[in-house]
Formats: sequence, structure tokens, C-alpha cells
Amino acid sequence: MRISVNNLDREPQGVAVVDETSQPPRARLRPADREVDLNWANAVDEQGRLRRCVVCGCREIFRRRDFPQRFGLMLVIAAAITSVILLARGQALWSMCVLLAAVVIDRIVYVFTKECLVCYRCRSEFRDVAIDASHEQWDLAIGEKYRPVRQRAVEDANQTHHPEAMP
Ligand SMILES: [Zn+2]
Repeated sequence: MRISVNNLDREPQGVAVVDETSQPPRARLRPADREVDLNWANAVDEQGRLRRCVVCGCREIFRRRDFPQRFGLMLVIAAAITSVILLARGQALWSMCVLLAAVVIDRIVYVFTKECLVCYRCRSEFRDVAIDASHEQWDLAIGEKYRPVRQRAVEDANQTHHPEAMP
């Protein structure tokens, strides 16, 4: 499995490739060229599925479609600009076709993108692992539980200063 390792501040530390069947206690990070400790206690179930984060030990992980977000954004921007130009030239039909094509390309890429597992707490990502329906998708209530303390403090302070912003 390939781990994109984050620290507890969710800052990327590098990528480690490990064999989950041999469960090495340490792994080398690339490109940083230093080692990271891995905690395998109850991390993998009998079916070889990852059940907790081996980087920070968090018991809760979620599965996420590994969609290339930058590509998605570029696609939307390119399609929007092209369709506006076509519309301005009076080619409404082609303008619609461009938007439709962008949606179709977006869906095709989405369907063919693999899924990965992500730790709620440190946001380390796990690829090339067995993922099935027993792995839950992102859950807002659990995500809220692991919101970084620093970020929570800033947001709470903002809400105190702007009580009208409260729902
Ligand atoms: Zn973690």
C-alpha cells in the first residue's frame, strides 16, 4: 500500500510504500528521506482491509474518490470560457455542446478514478489497498469531531464577533 503521510497538523510529510502483510514498524518517506513510525495494532482486519490509520492510530477512516481536483477545475474553467465566447458569437448550440461535453468528460474521469482511504484526524491517504462497502464515505458528524483545534478556535472566535452570522 502507498501512504501519503501527514503529521497531526495535516501537513504532508512524504510518501511511504509498505507491504501491509509484513506490517513494518517503520517506513522510509520519499522524497523527504527520513523514517516514520507505523502503528499496526488492530489496523488490518482478517480480510486484509485497513481499519484504522497506521500513521496516527485514529480509529476512523473514510473512503474518497481520488478525483484529480485540479483537472476538474481546469475543465470547468476551460468549458465556461469557451462556451461564453461561442455564445457571444451567436453560436448558442455549440456553446451548449461544449458545456455538455465537459459534463460527460467529468463523469467519465470520475467513474474511472480509483478510491482511496483517508484518516479523519491526520488526513493521511492510503492507496493500493482493499476498499469495499464496509468502508464508509465521509461523514460530516465524524469530520466535525476531528476538526483541528486551531481552526475551531479561529472559527468560534469569528462567530463570537459576528453573532448575526449564526444560523
Ligand atoms: Zn491518521
